This record gives sequence, structure tokens and C-alpha cells, in this order.
Amino acid sequence: MSGPLLRLTRIAQEYGTGETAVRALDGIDLEVAAGELVAVMGASGSGKSSLLSIAGGLAAPTSGTVEVEGVDLAGLSPKRIAALRRTTLGFVFQDYNLVPTLTALENVGLPLELDGWPRAKVRGAALEALAGVELGEQADRFPDDLSGGQQQRIAIARAVVGPRRLILADEPTGALDSQTGEVVLRMLRTRIDHGAGGVLVTHDARHAAWADRIVFLRDGRVADQTAASRPESLLEDVS
Ligand code: ADP
Ligand code: MG
Repeated sequence: MSGPLLRLTRIAQEYGTGETAVRALDGIDLEVAAGELVAVMGASGSGKSSLLSIAGGLAAPTSGTVEVEGVDLAGLSPKRIAALRRTTLGFVFQDYNLVPTLTALENVGLPLELDGWPRAKVRGAALEALAGVELGEQADRFPDDLSGGQQQRIAIARAVVGPRRLILADEPTGALDSQTGEVVLRMLRTRIDHGAGGVLVTHDARHAAWADRIVFLRDGRVADQTAASRPESLLEDVS
């Protein structure tokens, strides 16, 4: 495939109408290529979450186009968009509603099972995703037997299980302790280096440093863009 994985063109998003209308996004252009992680930073209310929801087809923009792998989401039925969300996109949010009666492995494999994957393939992919967040050893344990941080990592593994090509993460490390946060960022970076594309909303400049590029939002517009310094170079600086 040529062209970017994600292309947003002149995206505007308005909530409400008339006097109380809020223009959350105002003319955003953004492209994310395979192998590229883009960090989005900006003050609370600057439009970061709105942007991510639109990029992943969770919300339709007021105007502008969203293309995922060259396909305009506006032309897809709700059913096709739902399928895209199950297979192509990985959403990492802060909620972690695990099913208490399922093991870590079963929780992580659930989206693939619902998508009709054969059992052995589900198991393999779920194990791989769990290993990615360094919980391969805990596969057969139940959520209640694991710490809060481990439960969050399971939810994150579930969000990215299988061959997702575009990973969208909205402050995924917000509620994680710093060590767990780093595990998650390392997993994300590995997925990107293996050919996925990603958008990472974060408040933390150290986390944004894992990205290839940082986009700063202000009042729903791109205020600035910069190349990020990769962790490798940060490590070199320390040594
Ligand atoms: P961020 O994630 O950067 O904090 P958001 O995208 O959540 O920003 O919000 C951008 C603006 O849009 C804010 O002014 C917010 O209050 C408003 N907003 C977001 N979602 C809604 C909604 N569902 N209804 C009305 N206003 C909203
Ligand atoms: Mg937000």
C-alpha cells in the first residue's frame, strides 16, 4: 500500500448549535505513515480527544475528510466502520473493563473471538499481546488476582491484540505508575517499528519523546509541529 495510513484533511468539529456552539477542531490536517508514531500534545480542552475519536471513526467530523488506508470513512456504512474498528484500528483508552470470570488470556483474546477467529489463532495472538506488555507469565490468572497496574496492561493488550495497523492512544499512561507506563510505551513503539502507525495523546514530554513527531494543538488548531528525539538518543545523552 502506498500513501499514509491515516490522512485527516481540513477537519472541523463543532459541538452544539447557536450561541452555545463549541468549535473543538478548526481546520486540522494530519498524516500518519506506517512506521510512524505521532504524539499530540496540548492543554486540556484543546481538542486532542475529539481529534482521536474522529481519526478512529468513533465520531464523524462536522466537516473535512478522514481516510484510513486511503478509504474515506464517510463512504462506509456503520457496519463497515465497526468492522474496521475491530480489525484495523486499536484504541487505547483509560477504561479497563475486564471480564472478571475470564483469565487474562481470555480477556485479551475476546475481540478476536468475537470476530470469529479460530481458537488456536486467538490464543497465539493473545499470548503475543500479553507478552508485549510483559504479562506473558500471568496469562492464566484472573483479573482479581492481579494488581491494578497489571489489569491496565491487560486492557491495553486487549486494545492492540491482533494485526492492528493503526493504533490510537488517548493518554494511555495517565493513570499508570511510571514503570508500567514505560512498558506500555515500549510495546507501542515496537508495534510501530514493525509497521503500524500510531497517534499518542499525552501530557508528558518524556512520553512524547517516544514519538517521531509531536503535534501541538491550541484551540483546535495545529499550533506547532516538531520532530521528537527518540529514546535511543535520550539514552545516549545519559551515558
Ligand atoms: P482535550 O482532549 O484536549 O481535553 P476535547 O477534545 O475533549 O479536548 O475537547 C475540546 C473542546 O470540545 C472542549 O471545549 C470541550 O469542552 C468540548 N467538547 C468535547 N466533547 C464535547 C461534547 N461531547 N459536547 C460538547 N462539547 C464537547
Ligand atoms: Mg482528552
